[in-house]
Amino acid sequence: MMAENSNIEWTDHTFNPWIGCQKVSPGCDHCYAETWDARGLQQRESRWGPHATRTRTSAANWRKPLAWNRAAEKAGKRARVFCASLADVFDNHPSIQPEWRADLWQMIADTPHLDWLLLTKRPQNIERMLPDGWGEGWERVWLGTTVENQTEANRRIPQLKAVPARVRFLSCEPMHGPVDLIEATRRVIRHPNYLGIGLHWVICGGESGPSARPMHPDWARSLRDQCAAAGVAFHFKQWGEWAPRRCAQPGDLLNANRAVIVRPDGSITSGLMAYNRDAWVMDKRGKKAAGRLLDGREWNELPGAA
Ligand code: SF4
Repeated sequence: MMAENSNIEWTDHTFNPWIGCQKVSPGCDHCYAETWDARGLQQRESRWGPHATRTRTSAANWRKPLAWNRAAEKAGKRARVFCASLADVFDNHPSIQPEWRADLWQMIADTPHLDWLLLTKRPQNIERMLPDGWGEGWERVWLGTTVENQTEANRRIPQLKAVPARVRFLSCEPMHGPVDLIEATRRVIRHPNYLGIGLHWVICGGESGPSARPMHPDWARSLRDQCAAAGVAFHFKQWGEWAPRRCAQPGDLLNANRAVIVRPDGSITSGLMAYNRDAWVMDKRGKKAAGRLLDGREWNELPGAA
């Protein structure tokens, strides 16, 4: 099931050193990895939750990055590896053996033609799980955290920024509310020399899946504009399930199964009684049809260090 070639736009491969996790914030509500894991529950125990045992992936799976590394060397082009989609590398669950993470660091060291993108919802754990010799960060390791709303921005961005890293990134996906990066980054600056606001790359995307919530267009636009002002690369991944149609107008009455009105605070209605120029009609088109154009174009920027 673990795809050798990822279908996530911003990475070439996905590697899961182990499988299993537990929910830690609203961004986990519709965790696709848990849904994926639940499909095998007739044959084995669940790997999700505080009491569930995580399991290391097979030796064959662990050989894949070495093959990707050889292919990247041959092609003369570094490849990006996203780690992890079915676990959190900085999960501190007791069933995760310290040598699993040590083996992962060794794997990263052994694959010089790969850039490793470690994305976590637990940035508070990163520092104590780093390998010896981390120094100011390994050149090919990008550390990222998920920021789905301002509360998580205020909590996680300072935690991420407290860790030395060559590239720091945010995954603002699924976006559940507006995010002010400056407000969040103002809180702790331990390494003041980092470019701009101490971040190098921001990925933005709306939620997908059957119970997905719409992303107000102004949240994505604001993030893009904040990144531009701060010299931070911006990648717009997807609208998700819901795509914007137009500003809502008084008298709009919609079939809530197919279209809703989303207000700037994320609240949703199927009818608009009063003029509110900041409310938007969003159509349920499905992830593919909703696409990934923001104001008429794709946003595929990468950090300058890449
Ligand atoms: S951190 Fe990621 S893998 Fe873990 S429960 Fe949340 S969404 Fe799922």
